[in-house]
Amino acid sequence: MDYLQGLNPEQKAAVLQIKGPVMIIAGAGSGKTRVITYRVAHLIRSGVDSFNILVLTFTNKAAREMRERINHICGPEAKNIWMGTFHSVFAKLLRVEADKIGYPSNFTIYDTDDSKSVLRAILKEMNLDDKLYAVNFVLNRISAAKNNLVGWQEYQQNEQIQSDDHSSGRGKLGVIYQTYVQRCYRAGAMDFDDLLFKTNELLKLHPEVLNKYQHKFKYLMVDEYQDTNFSQYLIVKRLAAVNENICVVGDDAQSIYAFRGANIQNILNFEKDYPDLKIFKLEQNYRSTQNIVNVANSIIANNKEQLKKNVFSEKETGDKIKVMRAFSDNEEGKMVADTIMQDRSTHGMKWNDFAILYRTNAQSRSMEEALRKLNIPYKIYGGLSFYQRKEIKDLIAYFRLTFNPNDEEALKRVINYPKRGIGDTTVDRIIVSADKNSITPFEVILQPNRYIEKAPASLSAFAAMIQSFQVLAKNQSAYEAALYIAQHSGLLKDLYEDKSVEGLNRYENIQELLNGIKEFSEREDIEEKGLDVFMQDIALLTNDDKDKNKDADTVSLMTIHSSKGLEFPQVFVVGLEENLFPSQMSLNSRSDLEEERRLFYVAVTRAERKLSISYATSRFKFGTLINCEPSRFLDEIDAKYLELDFSAKPAQSSFFDDERNAWSRKPDTKGDTFSKPKAATTPPPVKTTSILAKAHVVSKDFRISDTSNLQVGMQVEHERFGFGKVINLEGNKPDVKATIFFKEIGQKQLLLKFAKLSII
Ligand code: ATP
Ligand code: MG
Repeated sequence: MDYLQGLNPEQKAAVLQIKGPVMIIAGAGSGKTRVITYRVAHLIRSGVDSFNILVLTFTNKAAREMRERINHICGPEAKNIWMGTFHSVFAKLLRVEADKIGYPSNFTIYDTDDSKSVLRAILKEMNLDDKLYAVNFVLNRISAAKNNLVGWQEYQQNEQIQSDDHSSGRGKLGVIYQTYVQRCYRAGAMDFDDLLFKTNELLKLHPEVLNKYQHKFKYLMVDEYQDTNFSQYLIVKRLAAVNENICVVGDDAQSIYAFRGANIQNILNFEKDYPDLKIFKLEQNYRSTQNIVNVANSIIANNKEQLKKNVFSEKETGDKIKVMRAFSDNEEGKMVADTIMQDRSTHGMKWNDFAILYRTNAQSRSMEEALRKLNIPYKIYGGLSFYQRKEIKDLIAYFRLTFNPNDEEALKRVINYPKRGIGDTTVDRIIVSADKNSITPFEVILQPNRYIEKAPASLSAFAAMIQSFQVLAKNQSAYEAALYIAQHSGLLKDLYEDKSVEGLNRYENIQELLNGIKEFSEREDIEEKGLDVFMQDIALLTNDDKDKNKDADTVSLMTIHSSKGLEFPQVFVVGLEENLFPSQMSLNSRSDLEEERRLFYVAVTRAERKLSISYATSRFKFGTLINCEPSRFLDEIDAKYLELDFSAKPAQSSFFDDERNAWSRKPDTKGDTFSKPKAATTPPPVKTTSILAKAHVVSKDFRISDTSNLQVGMQVEHERFGFGKVINLEGNKPDVKATIFFKEIGQKQLLLKFAKLSII
């Protein structure tokens, strides 16, 4: 049991409790994922057959890392564990059982683009207003319905839903939902939500199947349980119903997917579902320094909805958290890149010790530019997946058609690419005829002259080509089949003939895909190596999964959402500005704002040793330079943990360039004043120099006009903390810290720079 030594008593108790329901609700970095990993290892060491273990993780990366660790402790046994994301695990299960719910085992998984394309076609056919029925909106509605296990029939019969839809003028949503489901079914396709929806359907309607998996998965574990939705919750509940050996771990403070239907109630329901539940609490954070943990605690304390925890660290106090102010987004990038450069050489760090986290993908641009200028290697995680690139999707569409010729989206994508004289009108006729005759579009193409007028000869040739691919794919290795298809579809030649830089790039990407398939064909750890097997999970992969150089020494860039569960020695959380973080959309409701705050909590708890937070006072948004205000989250952090770096100086040239009589791209100086953000395209009432002179202009109720006015004993009002009295002031301008006793929440120390106060 030597492997249990790396656990504290509470963690060990949770690992050893292998029978019955177990829940571990604990703060960030307290070893939840570690407990799951060791628990699996312990199960195997205790003689549990690895075939009987199911582990559900949030990302493929987490599953991979866990598998490696378990391998390390237990040897190759871990191979038989079912471990992966909900989507990949249940896609695998559905392929085995698909016939029970009327699907072929080689069903296609429609990605979001495919789903949107299906919807677009339906909306067009129904002649619906694409503003009222915006594709994203409709898709979200269908997705939400599926994740709450509301099928189209129930959707159409539910009075509440119908009355809501009608009163918003969107009475057709039910019919769209129905048509969408029927189209996917005809195409032998499931979308992402179907992977869960259909699993529930399967387990509900087929007791013998449920029974089989209840006995197979004798031990279930779920990481990041706080982010499961109802559909996921129910699958787990069903599977665990017989043995009840279920262990879930999570942290309510890190629930960041409510916008996608994740339901915090799942944690609370868990206690109701399993009265014999054993609950473990882990409070010690092993990841971060005390300062980082304290900052995280002071952030989350502002949320009303939370299960109280006492997270602490026994690591060193650590550096204070650096707050960097930049005058523009580009300068923010430069400050981050300079710091990385400097800290790397001063502290002998590696590039992959650093991570830059942002709220929105668009923020990566200024970071990337700055890193490139200093030749710092970096990698963006969770960006556009390799498999989302056009040329890759084109070739994959041929593969999809080969295994599932009914796949309508794949068909539409390549029926005339490369060009073979099959125009849009012909494609429309094919679809209409398929609808009319209740057959699939591919069946129309097999006998074009029977079903449509003026069928071009190339239609039959296309169908024959796909059929030849089908024969070939049965008999050849994945690589041989893929290469043959790339060549004989004409795709490789088409790309080869395009000598532009982009064309070359696309050609190389196809080569890379083929190389990947070759590697797959040569793998020794799997038995089934056909192209169909390679294709199974492809729609679920992200660009991180594709990366061959996983261990390359690079700085990591990613959104905070994709940083969940990860850790880095040094972290930069950038863009702490109102309307960006918290996002503009979150400002209307407390629950949305609290979700943003949890996101901030996730971000800061990724840091092990050093944490920097930054904001810019101006930023380009949709081509316009916008002035920005520091995020409210900054003034929630207890000032004693912060160290301000306001070393960046505003550019000398005035923001409003008199000579050119135009706005300059040069950074703004108004950050000092905390003036209200406004589009920078409006000419200023006075020249910037005079604005500078008039520093600390009051522009909002809750702004201090001049910090020197504030004196001990004064009554103040804070935007959120309410009324209070100043009991101490310390530090020099501009870093004056005020200790204020608030009526509602008691004593708090605030940095006046960030504090939204007014003197009363
Ligand atoms: P998150 O909430 O971010 O998902 P978590 O609770 O899953 O965090 P882990 O990732 O399991 O936490 O652990 C955080 C870090 O602390 C890891 O580097 C882990 O190896 C380390 N750690 C956890 N428990 C111990 C321990 N008992 N002794 C030493 N290191 C530990
Ligand atoms: Mg974890």
